[in-house]
Amino acid sequence: TYDMLIVGGGPAGAAAAIYAARKGIRTGVVAERFGGQVLDTMSIENFVSVTETEGPKFAAALEQHVKTYDVDINNLQRAEKLLQKDGLTEVQLASGATLRAKTVILATGARWREVNVPGEKEYRNHGVAYCPHCDGPLFKGKRVAVIGGGNSGVEAAIDLAGIVNHVTLLEFAAELRADAVLQRKLHSLPNVTVITQAQTTEIHGDGQKVNGISYQDRSNNSVHRVELEGVFVQIGLVPNTEWLKDTLNLSRHGEIEVNARGQTSLPGVFAAGDVTTVPYKQIVIAVGEGAKAALSAFDYLIRS
Ligand code: FAD
Repeated sequence: TYDMLIVGGGPAGAAAAIYAARKGIRTGVVAERFGGQVLDTMSIENFVSVTETEGPKFAAALEQHVKTYDVDINNLQRAEKLLQKDGLTEVQLASGATLRAKTVILATGARWREVNVPGEKEYRNHGVAYCPHCDGPLFKGKRVAVIGGGNSGVEAAIDLAGIVNHVTLLEFAAELRADAVLQRKLHSLPNVTVITQAQTTEIHGDGQKVNGISYQDRSNNSVHRVELEGVFVQIGLVPNTEWLKDTLNLSRHGEIEVNARGQTSLPGVFAAGDVTTVPYKQIVIAVGEGAKAALSAFDYLIRS
C-alpha cells in the first residue's frame, strides 16, 4: 500500500512525486508515458528560469529529478478504474494489476483535439502548433491561420494578431461560437480575416515546414488555398478523464473539479495539472499545482 499514488507522469505528476517523496512517505507513480505532453514539443521557452529547452530534454530532466528520490515508477501502465474500499483508494490498471493507496493524485493531463487532415501530423512542430502561449512568438512577423472559432480559437487569433503579420481564422460553422465581447475585439483588428463555413482540407508544406492551408467553402464547395507559415489548431483540449466518468465530479468539459487545495469530490483523492478545472494549461502551472496537490494530500495523511 502506497501512502501516495500519483497517476500520470507529466510535469504535474513529477512535481507531486518529488514533493511526496521528500516527506519520506511511500510514493508511487503510474504513467502511460512518463514525461507527458512535453515529449511532443521541440521548443519550450516559457518555463521560468529555463530560457530555452527541448521537450524530450525537459521530460528526461523531470524523470531524472524524480529518480533521485525513492519513488516507485510504473511506466507504460494505463489506469482504467478508480474505486474506494476500506478507507483506501484502488487504481486498477489495464495490465490487470491493482494498486492501493491512502491518498491518490490524479495528473493524467489532456490532449489537443486534432483536425485530422493531410499535413497535420507531418508538420507538427514545423508550422503546425496547438498552444499560442507557447509557440506564438515563433511566428513573429509571419502569416498564420487559426482553426476554430470558439472561445479558444478567437482568443488565440486576438493574441496572435499582436505578434504575427496576419491571421486567418477558419470556422467550420456559419458563425463563430466565441463570446460576443471576444468577437467584437476580433473584428476590430486590422490584420485578421475571418472565414466561416470553412472546412480545412489540407495543410501544405515544402517537405520541411508549412507553406499553406486549403479549405473548402461549405456554402458552394469551392476550394481555396491560403499561403502562410503557421497553423494553430484550436478545436478543443480534451482532458484524459474518460476512465473517471461516474467516479468523481467532472466539469461539463470533463475536467476534474478541484478546490484551491487540489482536493476532488472524493476524500483522499487530489488532482493537478491540465486534467483539472484550473485554467491556463501550461507546464509552469501544472508543476505548481502538482506540488500543491502533494502537500494537500500529505496534510490529509497526517490528519487521518
Ligand atoms: P501531461 O503532460 O498531459 O501528462 C499526463 C500524464 O498522464 C502522462 O504521463 C500520460 O501518459 C499520463 N496518463 C494519461 N492518462 C493516463 C491513464 N489512464 N493512466 C496512466 N497514465 C495516464 N506548455 C508550456 O508551458 N510551454 C510550452 O512551450 C508548451 N508547449 C507545448 C507544445 C505541445 C505540442 C503540447 C501538446 C503542449 C505544450 N505545452 C506547453 C502544454 C504542457 O505540455 C502541458 O500544460 C503540461 O504538459 C501539462 O502537464 P500535466 O502533467 O498536467 O499533463
